[in-house]
Amino acid sequence: MIKFRTLKKGVPMSQDIYPIGQHHCYSCLQWDGVRTYDHEKQKIKVDASSLGNCRISHSKIKGTAFCDNYYPLR
Ligand code: SF4
Repeated sequence: MIKFRTLKKGVPMSQDIYPIGQHHCYSCLQWDGVRTYDHEKQKIKVDASSLGNCRISHSKIKGTAFCDNYYPLR
């Protein structure tokens, strides 16, 4: 059974499961979009096309975006 730790409440319409460390905003510590993180399995459940706020650029950004200031989830 997979246990996900909820980082933010709310469930997007279509979520997929991705490994962490993909250098996309959805797997960046600074992205506050809706996602759940399974620390044990190192997986993220997220609608990668959804918008979240980047705490560095202070702008809404898609989970599929990326930048050089990537902060991996641990
Ligand atoms: S823009 Fe960069 S710092 Fe901001 S959430 Fe995306 S990867 Fe992280």
